[in-house]
Amino acid sequence: MPQNLWNDAEYRALPDLEGLVYRSNLLGRDRSVVNIYGGNTSVKLEQTDFAGRTTRVLYVKASGSDVLTMKAKDFAALRLDDIDPLFKRDAMTDEQMTDYLAFTVFEPGRPRQSIETLLHAFVPYRHVDHTHPDAVISLACTPAGEATARKLFGDRMAWVDYIRPGFTLSKWIGQRVQDNPRIDCVVMGKHGLVTWGDDPKSCYNQTIRIIQEAEDYILEQQTGKAVFGAVKVPALEDAKLRNVLMDVLPFVRGQVSTERSAILAYDDSEDVLDYVARERTGEVSQAGAACPDHLVHVKRQPLFVDWTPGEGVDALKTKLKDGIADYKTRYVDYFNANKTDRRR
Ligand SMILES: [Zn+2]
Repeated sequence: MPQNLWNDAEYRALPDLEGLVYRSNLLGRDRSVVNIYGGNTSVKLEQTDFAGRTTRVLYVKASGSDVLTMKAKDFAALRLDDIDPLFKRDAMTDEQMTDYLAFTVFEPGRPRQSIETLLHAFVPYRHVDHTHPDAVISLACTPAGEATARKLFGDRMAWVDYIRPGFTLSKWIGQRVQDNPRIDCVVMGKHGLVTWGDDPKSCYNQTIRIIQEAEDYILEQQTGKAVFGAVKVPALEDAKLRNVLMDVLPFVRGQVSTERSAILAYDDSEDVLDYVARERTGEVSQAGAACPDHLVHVKRQPLFVDWTPGEGVDALKTKLKDGIADYKTRYVDYFNANKTDRRR
């Protein structure tokens, strides 16, 4: 459940760029709001350039940093006066966009801007957040995503259909916001959310408020329903669970370390245990990632191992070994079947 974590004492009305850093770090504290390395944040400021001229600068999260830990140096800084004319164009390839933006750099030595930079430039507000929150994606990835989001947010929202991030998506978003000055957010089909504000606090509040509304709606919808079916495999008691883990985790590490060494992370939070226990988990887990951004980190599907404690640990090891080998084959086939040269 996303909580509003804003703290005026911590924020101390920081100047805008530091305020952007504070807001970004705060968003990253809740991974249901911003997934690791995902999302991006920005501010538009008036700065003095190397020659003493007043310049409008877009500071926007660069590729390769994570909002939770990023600092002021991790934002790309670009000249808005050079970017604004792009809004009049009809189309740009990723390469044309990247080449163009390279000329708009405000100061040397900053990291490279991401593919989602222009959406921040084209949204005419000082502070902008673009996030992939679990709750909003849950709505926006369903076949009735637009209708559901419209029912929930009404006229406060503009919707854009899914297309791959790039110039066109940024232009669609900018156009929607410019055409509808009274909206609070843009919901992006199968992708995420764009929100904004005049200062770091109002921007953060707006982002969290919209996500909370989506989450409240989902909770309301699932009340009294076993969405993933009845409980099929209740969780083991702590001591038994620990014994199984001590036996199985080194085995898994060996199985997944055949190409290069891997470190395992283990999660038995309440949500995870509830999810893996259900009748329909095998089916639901293979439906595919909820959001394109998730693909980067969790791949297309997880491996699901259908096992009950009554079968014994040796049976679990056999299932893990076969499952991992099969997963690897399927993933390589999937990759080879779909790899394309993006430049075409
Ligand atoms: Zn995105």
